Amino acid sequence: MKNSTAIVLFCDNFRINDNQALHQAVQNYANVVLVYVYAENYLGRNLGAASKVFLHYALKSFQNLLHEKYSASLVIRAVKDVNDIAPELLKIHSEHNFEAIFAAKSYIARQIKTQEQITQTFEAKNVKTIFTKGKIIFDTADVKQFKIFTPFSKHCFSNLHLLSDMAMSHKTITSKHNLASLSVDELGLLPTNQGRWAQKMMQFYETSYDKIEENFVNFITQKLHSYAEERNNLEAGQNSAISPFLRFGMLSPNWCFNFCLTMGGGQNQFALELLWRDFSYHTAYHNPQIETEEIRPIYKNFRWNNDLQHLKLWQKGQTGFDIVDAAMNQLYTTGTMHGRARMISASFLIKDLLCNWKLGEQWFWDTLADADPAINPFSWQWVFGSGLDGAPYFRIFNPHLQAQRFDPNFVYRKKWLKPSNHLTPPIVCHNLQSKETMLRYKVALR
Ligand SMILES: Cc1cc2nc3c(=O)[nH]c(=O)nc-3n(C[C@H](O)[C@H](O)[C@H](O)COP(=O)(O)OP(=O)(O)OC[C@H]3O[C@@H](n4cnc5c(N)ncnc54)[C@H](O)[C@@H]3O)c2cc1C
Repeated sequence: MKNSTAIVLFCDNFRINDNQALHQAVQNYANVVLVYVYAENYLGRNLGAASKVFLHYALKSFQNLLHEKYSASLVIRAVKDVNDIAPELLKIHSEHNFEAIFAAKSYIARQIKTQEQITQTFEAKNVKTIFTKGKIIFDTADVKQFKIFTPFSKHCFSNLHLLSDMAMSHKTITSKHNLASLSVDELGLLPTNQGRWAQKMMQFYETSYDKIEENFVNFITQKLHSYAEERNNLEAGQNSAISPFLRFGMLSPNWCFNFCLTMGGGQNQFALELLWRDFSYHTAYHNPQIETEEIRPIYKNFRWNNDLQHLKLWQKGQTGFDIVDAAMNQLYTTGTMHGRARMISASFLIKDLLCNWKLGEQWFWDTLADADPAINPFSWQWVFGSGLDGAPYFRIFNPHLQAQRFDPNFVYRKKWLKPSNHLTPPIVCHNLQSKETMLRYKVALR
């Protein structure tokens, strides 16, 4: 094998460090060609605007890393439709012969199908396809479905020996080819108008690999000890802010988990949060329609208002509920939102405005830089109650009490509210809406 060529097919695992697919290819093949084939609907739905922007900068940063540290480059191709990915690889094969394809194993229905298409396409050519772990910490695809998080996390902690060996950076990557490549700009991921919005959003992210890792190490060494108490505090800024880097695979979840166990002296709250991420993927794997179908079917009976005027006011941060409006403004400006604020604003849309969780999920999908095909629908269903191990339906967040508890000194709201927000009266009465919502749940779940 050592004289032959393999390709490493990248997709949402744009990293060198702890990249099993790349590691195995470099260990077993003399020449390794690095390939990325973009289709806007590669996840089965079109990528949202904010994550497209983030992907643009992630790819640029990855190209820089490859160029500066390895004198290598990523061969970038674009296809119109996800079904064209396997044929495009076949085309690449006809331009430059290779004996194997390495990629990170997916747990998302549409990507699983693509990986099957690739395997079928190349079986006939005697090209091996190897899908390695890399997107989550524990490969729980073949494990029976866990419906509750605690036994899931116990299962993970009792199987620490299954954690991947750390595949750290390679000193060299030999990558020789004459394949044509698009530039990142040619993928057209940035918006053609409102370009300033994208630039402004990216001011909130540092996408160089050294900085991403340094920030994470600083978080672990300086904030891990207080994370359990502070993670819900909207004022403190005690969270890791790694979600977009995990989403696009610029950070390895396996590496983060290992590092946090080592530094945290074993099981800790942050490790559990990383396992919630794995649990979302585990759930998405077992429920392939997670973004369109209620996991618990009885919840389909819920009667929604779906008032589009209310939806618009929520999206624009003009509900008259200061904590919700601050959260929605943070989202629109930065492409992210504090985790506690995500829960409050999602609960408000579902349980105060009676708008279908799918409308909120789609808005987050479009506006979050970390919009994740598993975590986003999983979390929306969790808030609604139709998901696994979800918030009980009768737990209706009171936005005023949430604000008092998690933003007692108005720090978060002062930061994100606009002057116009102070003039907006509440668009609904929370107490009346809560009563109506409880009734609707009772009718639906009868
Ligand atoms: C309605 C709603 C939608 C969400 N949509 C997304 C999404 O599209 N993408 C996304 O990455 N996260 C999503 N989350 C989960 C969570 O809010 C974010 O992961 C977190 O706020 C990101 O900030 P952080 O990296 O500082 O998190 P930290 O608190 O530092 O946690 C570290 C990591 O653990 C994982 N994690 C933390 N909380 C959760 C959780 N509740 N569920 C699953 N994994 C978790 C994430 O990977 C996160 O980056 C959503 C939550 C809600 C309530």
